[in-house]
Amino acid sequence: MIHGEIHLHVRQYINGRWETSATTGVSANPSDTSEVVAEYARADRRQAEAAIRAATEAFPHWSHSTPQRRADVLDRIGAELLARKDELGLLLAREEGKTLPEAVAEVARAGQIFKFFAGEAIRGGAGGGGGENVASVRAGVQVDVTREPVGVVGLITPWNSPFVIPAWKIAPALAHGNSVVFKPAELVPACGWVLAEIISRAALPAGAFNLVMGSGREVGQALVDSALVDALSFTGSVANGERILQTAAARRAKVQLETGGKNALVVLADADLDRAVDCAVQGAYFSAGQRCTASSRLIVEAPVHDAFVAKLRQRLKALKIGHALERGIDIGPVADEERLAQNLAWVGIAREEGAEHVWGGEALERATRGHYMSPALFLAKPSHRIAREEVFGPLACVLRADDYDEALALCNDTPFGLCAGICTNSLKHAMHFRRHAVVGMTMVNLPTAGVDFHVPFGGRKGSGYGPREQGRHAAEFYTTVKTGYMLA
Ligand code: NAD
Repeated sequence: MIHGEIHLHVRQYINGRWETSATTGVSANPSDTSEVVAEYARADRRQAEAAIRAATEAFPHWSHSTPQRRADVLDRIGAELLARKDELGLLLAREEGKTLPEAVAEVARAGQIFKFFAGEAIRGGAGGGGGENVASVRAGVQVDVTREPVGVVGLITPWNSPFVIPAWKIAPALAHGNSVVFKPAELVPACGWVLAEIISRAALPAGAFNLVMGSGREVGQALVDSALVDALSFTGSVANGERILQTAAARRAKVQLETGGKNALVVLADADLDRAVDCAVQGAYFSAGQRCTASSRLIVEAPVHDAFVAKLRQRLKALKIGHALERGIDIGPVADEERLAQNLAWVGIAREEGAEHVWGGEALERATRGHYMSPALFLAKPSHRIAREEVFGPLACVLRADDYDEALALCNDTPFGLCAGICTNSLKHAMHFRRHAVVGMTMVNLPTAGVDFHVPFGGRKGSGYGPREQGRHAAEFYTTVKTGYMLA
């Protein structure tokens, strides 16, 4: 049981053992910076390399384990996450700053992901069901197509969803028989550690799962550079994703990137305006806008533009921003001082570019010292930087569109392509939008943020690279296909 007030001392998990490092770091509570959440060992390159070697040695054992064994391991991890969701949600809210209900829901979803992949170990993918027997074009020959694990996978994750993003990488990696080196983001070591601690008690062979906490430049880069790492799955910023892709692809590693977004929510004149405002508030501002699926561009058809902006402004005025553990709070703090400064700089850029300020965008003081700001809304032009670049904070802009065709064109006028939503009562426009939005995920009359755990997640253009994550489609990344011929 992890208690709210006491700070944790967390270590690396390498080859089935807990290890300290030469240096340590701390994570602080963004709602109250005087509170240390964890003191953590900071790995260096040598420890990262030891974890990679351990994963390499464990691979023959784990990759040949039975589907039933893998299913049992994953089921046990999922069950523990679900049973401890309130306690671990509290840790997540303290370390990352999501509101407590959001944090508890995230831990529960992480548990459901492990449960889903427990089934997947048996149903499909490497070693389980799901292979194909195919008729050969040659007489007397039998053909089958099976899936095998890829090998050692390096999993590099961001700070904004510290349970669920690691879960949707670790669970399919293990389900399909790969061994894992997991590197969480520096801001959320305690969340990464607690997940590793649960996994460490799930009867995996030593070395099949390893945790290395430390800097991206040293520990993350060691995974990217190592010839022993067969596949890399990275979620984070576009710039780091690009660099990882260049290096890892050059040594022919398999690479999967989930990077940023500049997601649009289109509001047509025939929409239920209250629902549209609700989708905008949830999609753009909840979790302090720190979601890759956040609706940061609200594209509104001219006849309802002013009414939508007025209603949205009213809602923003009423939102409660405060300590993530306070009851009744809508939005917690942003993750750290640097992100707060970046968000406030974006507000300055928006003003300088001539975007019209509607609401918010100010640093706020609360009873505890934290990284609080009011949700910001601007009316922008498509050329403005706040309409083109990812902010990753509680800031959204409204773009006016004359009609549906212009709204769709604006929606697609972006280097990103993660997700896009539309609020409308027109079946014709909803169907057309689902087909023509150039993204990986579409939502109709729903917020852009908030997705299911059993279906593919990911984007197009600058938002991603490689096969999708989650659901049975995760097998495309975490397995490799083998075709077998046999004389019958
Ligand atoms: P980031 O790129 O700074 O860091 C992500 C991870 O990469 C961290 O663990 C970091 O330590 C590591 N890293 C940094 N440099 C590295 C290097 N040279 N080699 C290997 N690893 C390295 O991103 P962040 O600030 O933690 O997260 C925010 C970003 O993540 C946003 O751009 C957001 O859109 C994106 N994101 C995307 C998705 C998605 O699924 N599309 C989901 C959540 C967040």
